[in-house]
Amino acid sequence: MDCDLSVALEASASIGMSMEPPSFTLSQSGTFVKEDFVINRQGIAAVNGNEVTGLGLRLADLEMLEVLGKGASSLVRKARHKPSQTDLAVKIINVFDKSKRDQLLRELRTLYSSAFPWLVTFHDCLYDDGAMFIVLEYMEGGSLADVLSAARLTGSGPLSELVIAKVAGRVLASLDYLHRERHQVHRDMKPGNILLNSRGDIKISDFGLSAELDSTKEMCATFIGTHAYMSPERLGGKPYSFASDIWSLGITLVECALGQYPYTAYTGSNYFVLLSQIINDAPPQLPTGTFSAEFRDFISECLYKEPEWRPSAQQMLLHPFICMHDDSCRPFDMAAYIRRIIEMRSSITMPP
Ligand code: ADP
Repeated sequence: MDCDLSVALEASASIGMSMEPPSFTLSQSGTFVKEDFVINRQGIAAVNGNEVTGLGLRLADLEMLEVLGKGASSLVRKARHKPSQTDLAVKIINVFDKSKRDQLLRELRTLYSSAFPWLVTFHDCLYDDGAMFIVLEYMEGGSLADVLSAARLTGSGPLSELVIAKVAGRVLASLDYLHRERHQVHRDMKPGNILLNSRGDIKISDFGLSAELDSTKEMCATFIGTHAYMSPERLGGKPYSFASDIWSLGITLVECALGQYPYTAYTGSNYFVLLSQIINDAPPQLPTGTFSAEFRDFISECLYKEPEWRPSAQQMLLHPFICMHDDSCRPFDMAAYIRRIIEMRSSITMPP
């Protein structure tokens, strides 16, 4: 472990010894300190009393490679950890914005303490020159959003019910873990946060991050992208909880099934019309004839406008749509499927 003693001393000075710990400190040495975390070029460290533990990744050891994607408030790059020749994904976030900083810390807390196989693995977090570098497991299949745009570009059509059921099962298992074990609402469930790798793993990322933006972003396309999957109660300013994630999953799966986002006002600029459609219109449904009754029922349960009617992730895992596509009834080589997607994506030039 590469743990700088000065960091430890600085952290204990900021946290352990002051009467009233600062909510956030950025010291002149470029160290980011908040509550029980200290982050700098040496990585993230959890501070318990005077004890500091860190993972020991160094920014200098990372070779930054191509941009993998742009999120609402971040840029994601592929990177190689030079000493171990390991590929990683690095999410770069400007932290001068207070709301982002707070979300980031929430996410770090969860990531740092989770060892659940279907959450994207968090390796470390580094801070340098006004930016946070969150170092994550590299998911070479990209996100479900990438799969959907590749499918649109190649004309290969929407995802099959079998694939959608497998994805839904994995995502529900992750949400069930977040909701029941960690008592946490994901808050930003959408195609861009469901990631795939060539081992056939489907994992969720970004829990607790990025969903709330500052008001300056109100009218831009990323703001719409981020809000398009939010539940009516949340967009309507009402209290929201676990059921909000179930709604977002429902919209995500409808998009996978139709090959397009279901609300017609999604034009990239018409935020208020979209908001009004989600809050006031009947929820999207899958058409009869094309989809099984089980799938249509699954979607209508996810998309009850009243949050209290939506079943929990645990209950949705027992829905016939998930059970009838279970590995014991419908075995499926997800790894081979994702490898085909990776080939398809590498054969086309994705728009920036
Ligand atoms: P948002 O801020 O919208 O939630 P992110 O910043 O998390 O989105 O991700 C944007 C894009 O970056 C994703 O759609 C995906 O293409 C890519 N990406 C994010 N994390 C990873 C990862 N761990 N491995 C590979 N690609 C990733």
